[in-house]
This record gives sequence, structure tokens and C-alpha cells, in this order.
Amino acid sequence: SCGIDRELRAPICCILGHVDAGKTKLLDCIRRSNVQGGEAGGITQQIGATYLPVQNIRERTSLKAEATIKVPGLLVIDTPGHQSFRNMRIRGSSLCDVAVVVVDITRGRGLENQTIESLDLLKHRNVRFVVALNKVDRLYGWKTCPNAPIAKALKNQSDDVRSEFKWRVTEVVTQLKENGLNAALYYENKKIKEVVNIVPTSSVSAEGIPDLLLLLVRWVLEIMMERLTYVNNVECTVLEVNEDKDFGTTIDVVLINGALRKGDQIVVCTKQGPVTTNIRYLLTPYPMKELKAKGVYKHHEELKAAQGVKIAVRGLRHAIPGTTLIVVKPGDDLEQAEAAAVQEINKANSLVNEDESCESDDGTAIQEMSRIKTCKEGVYVQASSIGTLEAIIEHLKSLSFDIPVSGCNLGPVHKQDVMKATAMLKRKEEYAAILAFDVKVMPEAFDLAAESGVKIFVADTVYKLVDSFTGHIKKLKE
Ligand code: GDP
Ligand code: MG
Repeated sequence: SCGIDRELRAPICCILGHVDAGKTKLLDCIRRSNVQGGEAGGITQQIGATYLPVQNIRERTSLKAEATIKVPGLLVIDTPGHQSFRNMRIRGSSLCDVAVVVVDITRGRGLENQTIESLDLLKHRNVRFVVALNKVDRLYGWKTCPNAPIAKALKNQSDDVRSEFKWRVTEVVTQLKENGLNAALYYENKKIKEVVNIVPTSSVSAEGIPDLLLLLVRWVLEIMMERLTYVNNVECTVLEVNEDKDFGTTIDVVLINGALRKGDQIVVCTKQGPVTTNIRYLLTPYPMKELKAKGVYKHHEELKAAQGVKIAVRGLRHAIPGTTLIVVKPGDDLEQAEAAAVQEINKANSLVNEDESCESDDGTAIQEMSRIKTCKEGVYVQASSIGTLEAIIEHLKSLSFDIPVSGCNLGPVHKQDVMKATAMLKRKEEYAAILAFDVKVMPEAFDLAAESGVKIFVADTVYKLVDSFTGHIKKLKE
């Protein structure tokens, strides 16, 4: 079928790796250099994702006019650490088509924990990936060549730098091998379909970024042309549910395939069962606006996959992250759509109830909202959204020593939250802690915590938050 010109959708790519490997910076680098490049290939900051149109990739990679890129762009998911994985697990298939695993070239002696975790996760879910061997600019004596392809950048280096580069690459290849993976520098890789491609990058001076982008958009077609073919059937996954002051309830989704239109009838999976409603507004943030900037959305009549989209709806509060959003087109059978939603909900529920060792604690509204399982003994988690809340809890669960959760809440940490956490002082003191992510801690809450002995941990990334808590536990155990 290679002669046929088929319409392709943008591949969806997530970024994984150990904390501090440079995931955020890599994404920043991909985005920011664009601002400098002007509006032409301007990328769109989407819901939980960044959309890079193909013009933009062409500019970044200085492609000749006649060179073709067949995909319309690349959708890079911002927050692979949380919701998207939940989705992957729940749906059995994956939200992401491919992944980039970021590894710090300057770290010697074995792959780091979260790198190994990421590799395991991808292997389990059958997600293909490339390795970005990041921070090449930190090799001793590196001469920066902003935005240069890696081959050109290497040519500019001294023999010492090149030889350090070489042995560090060899080391990483060996470490990957020890983890059951064959990998090679992508430009030396003779079997790009089987052997994992390594792309050296710098997220600071952007050497190798053109290589990474170009490799991604070309390699995906070698390995998954079929899957990237645009079809009219909507495939859409719920990431988050939010309350927006202007739009009321909004659902953040990743539109994997098909198109959404304003006014479309949809069936949403909620804890109370399927809810049928309509798309009131179809929104994306304006280009280059921060994700968290509120009230700056662009309205659309129609959006085609792949995109990160915010949907405003009426009469809905408790959509379940990770479930499928079903669109009912004129002539479609609504009952059938609702039955499909019921199945989705059951599937989601059975996954949550898998772990029988924890008792469910009925009570607060948030638990109802997020179906998060709690134990009698455990830490208290507080975050700005259901998605991040789940991310933290997932991450706690994935640690080698399980950290249970006794309660959780959304929004600022108030005195009442600290009160709840004090219950642990008697039951299990080490868990008398609040893990607060991206939320304010009210002064009275701080005071009460200090008085009572409840520890409050605050961090701007999920990993840092969990790391600082586990660091604390380790210290207690010593
Ligand atoms: P993340 O935890 O994987 O998201 O890592 P970050 O993107 O937050 O990066 C961690 C630290 O490494 C930050 O101080 C970054 O500025 C720095 N960093 C990330 N990438 C590079 C790089 O390519 N070169 C250099 N020199 N520093 C980097
Ligand atoms: Mg980060």
C-alpha cells in the first residue's frame, strides 16, 4: 500500500526518565527555540501536551524543501508521569504511540531507578521508544554549537571530548544491554526497527534536537504507519476533569484519532455511570501560553487528531480519568454507546479494586470523585488536580517499599487536612505527613503541623515530592 497517499495523524509521544535527567528542560528546549524562530512554525501549547506542526519541525531541522515529512506534526505529552500511564494501564492499549526516555550522559555507573522503571513500563506496554542521551554539553571541554545536528557538533569538539563522548555512550549501551535492550547511536544503527536508537542531545544548547525531532517523525512511519493512519472514528481518552471559572466543568482529553466538533453528543464515563451530554465548547490554549494560565483558550468548531483538547460540558462532574470519551454521531446507537461506557467504567473499577489489601474508606467527596483507595495507616496527599493526585499515589505504589495513603484532598492545605493527618501520630508516626503538590499551604495549617508534629512536604514535581518524603522515611529508619 506504499503508493497510496494516506492521511496520517500526528504521532503521540511522551517523555520519560529519571528525575533531573532533563525531561522538562528537553520539552522547554523544543518549545522555546521556537519562540525565537518567530511565528511561522509556531507551536501550540495544548492541554497536557505540546503540538509541534510539521513546518516547525522542518525549520528546526533545516530540511531541504524537497524532503518530505509525512506526518502533520508531533504531539508531545507533558506529563507522562501520571495520567497517561494510568490510561495505558486501564485501556490496555497505549495513549502514547512512542516515547523518549531521557538519560543523563554525565551519570556513570548503571542506569538510575526511574530509568529502569520507565524501560520496564514501556516494555510491558509494548511502547517503542528512543533514548535521548542528554546533557552532552556537560562533557568536559564541550564547545557549544546551538541547535546543531549532533554530527556537526561532534566535529567541532576536541579529541578528548570526542573520546569521552565515545566511552560514555559505550557505557550506556552496556547498561541498556544489562537490562535486556539492544541499543546503538541512531546514526550507526543498521536495524532501526529492532535496535533502540540513541540520540545524543543537549536541552540547554540544543545540539542533537534536530536529530531527535527528525528521527521521531521518520522512524514512527517505519514502525507504525498503519496505526498513524487518520480515521474518522473518534478515539479519545480523558486525562483530567477540572472546574474552570469561565467554562464550568471541563474535561481535558487527548484526541488520538478522528475529529471532535462543537455540539457533538458525547457519552462520558463517570462513577455514577455513563452521562450523555454535548460538547459546549471545544478549546485549546493560545499558542505559547502557559498551561496553567486560565481563561486564555481558543474556541474551535472542529479539531482533528492528534490533539490535546479541553472540552466544556454541562451537567457533569465526575468523569473518570483514563476512560474513553465516546462520541455519538447522528445515526449512531446511543444505547450501544452507553453500554460501551458501562463496560469502560466496570473495567476502570475492577482495576482500582484489584488491590484487596487496602480497605476502602468511605467519606470525603474527593474519594468519591477520584475512586482513590485508602488505608487506615498511610500518608495524606494533597494536590491541585485529580490527575496529579493519582500520579503521586501511583508513584508511591510503584516504589520498592509501598507507601500507603490514608486520605487525600484537592486544593490548598487547610487546618482540617492537618487535623486528619494527626490521626497517624498515634497509629504510625512516620506516616503523619502531608505530601502537598502544586497547592498552597495555609499559614494556620503550617502552624498546626509544626505544633502537632505532622510533617508537610512540598515540591514542584511529583518525583521530588515523593523523593523528599522517602528521604525522610529513610532518615527515620537509620
Ligand atoms: P527532569 O526532572 O527530568 O524534568 O529534569 P529537568 O528538566 O528539571 O532538569 C534537571 C536539571 O538539569 C536542571 O537544572 C536543568 O537545567 C539541567 N539540565 C537539563 N538538561 C540539561 C542539558 O542538556 N544540559 C545541561 N547542562 N543541563 C541540563
Ligand atoms: Mg521535570
